[in-house]
Amino acid sequence: MSFWKNLVGKFTTLIGQKEQVDWEAILIESDLGINLSQKLYSLLEKEKLLNRTDLAEKRIRNELIAILGNGNLSFPIGQPGVILLVGVNGGGKTTTAAKLAYKFKSEGKKVYLAACDTFRAAATEQLKIWAEKLELPVISAKEGADAASVAFRAYSQASQSQADYLIVDTAGRQANKKNLMLELGKIKKTLEKASGQVPLFVLLVVDGTSGSNVLVQAREFHEALGLSAMVVTKLDSSAKGGMIAAVKYELGIPTLFIGRGENLEALEAFSPEGFIEEFFS
Ligand code: GDP
Repeated sequence: MSFWKNLVGKFTTLIGQKEQVDWEAILIESDLGINLSQKLYSLLEKEKLLNRTDLAEKRIRNELIAILGNGNLSFPIGQPGVILLVGVNGGGKTTTAAKLAYKFKSEGKKVYLAACDTFRAAATEQLKIWAEKLELPVISAKEGADAASVAFRAYSQASQSQADYLIVDTAGRQANKKNLMLELGKIKKTLEKASGQVPLFVLLVVDGTSGSNVLVQAREFHEALGLSAMVVTKLDSSAKGGMIAAVKYELGIPTLFIGRGENLEALEAFSPEGFIEEFFS
């Protein structure tokens, strides 16, 4: 049975001859977050749709479409346009860096990569392996090096080579969160200064299977850095990505791409209509 119908079935009880649907539970279980769930519930209540399952679903659909909008957002154009990938460890930053590089390269663009996760040697190694596969230049340094210096060097080289895009992979783990945010802030400032581009394109990469945690991460990174958009990975799983709507509703941050696998082609442009179809399938 489908995700949504399964949820509705799970939270519908028969009281006498009447069906009682627990919309609060359904909305929360859909990873829409507490605030958006409450807003949707209030709408159903106000419009007396709580006991009219089909109409209620339609109302939720329309509201979600309105929230997600048509999201006309494009990447920065510069020489190069800089895309800074941030997010917690394991969310899919490095893989997404490679997927984006592949996408741009396929479009005939000149791409540079910067390995600014100097905290973990394995992360730099991983990006280097992708870069080799893609036959793209990657600027890196050894473990423990100053990540902002790597970013600066990468920008200079990409700029001299008249690259179209510089994709910057960053660390997701530090001794503590404050240090991580400080380091990311420094990388961002360095790149802004070097490129004269304010703001940079800051892309949060999150694991789509981590449910309501996505909203918490989005809020923290947004407060520290100011996010441009989000990439939600691992939606090749059973996760339906309700948090995409929660993040757009609460923070105004749109989702630009979704990841559907580990290979280079597994990156899809986010479409609100496609999302809604899948969500309610
Ligand atoms: P990072 O620590 O944020 O750089 O995360 P990685 O890029 O190293 O990804 C962590 C793991 O998630 C790796 O095993 C990736 O292959 C995997 N991964 C990344 N994106 C996706 C996706 O869209 N779907 C699936 N199934 N796995 C993914």
